[in-house]
Amino acid sequence: MAVKNTLLFEPEVTCATCQACCCRLEVMLITDTGVPERYIEEDSWGSRVMARLDDGWCAALDRDTMMCSIYEHRPLICREFAMGEFECRTERKACL
Ligand code: SF4
Ligand code: SF4
Repeated sequence: MAVKNTLLFEPEVTCATCQACCCRLEVMLITDTGVPERYIEEDSWGSRVMARLDDGWCAALDRDTMMCSIYEHRPLICREFAMGEFECRTERKACL
């Protein structure tokens, strides 16, 4: 999703060797970045979130390439999710 330069960064962790593990997390829409409405649903608390399909991945993930199909319009949370940091590594451990 995004790369941040921090002490927690692990250079050997890259999205190229991942199956878009973080794209299975709930992604709340807290700003308007132009996500198409067909990819948005309401969660049980009434918040607008990215819809997920039965396989668990975000509806906007291209299943053939395992890349974001709305990259230019991806939500703020996706933009700020930092490759190599704790949450990324936690998700990779759970899904790879
Ligand atoms: S979990 Fe980490 S390595 Fe995998 S796609 Fe997301 S940011 Fe990239
Ligand atoms: S919007 Fe794109 S980057 Fe964000 S979870 Fe969905 S597929 Fe992944």
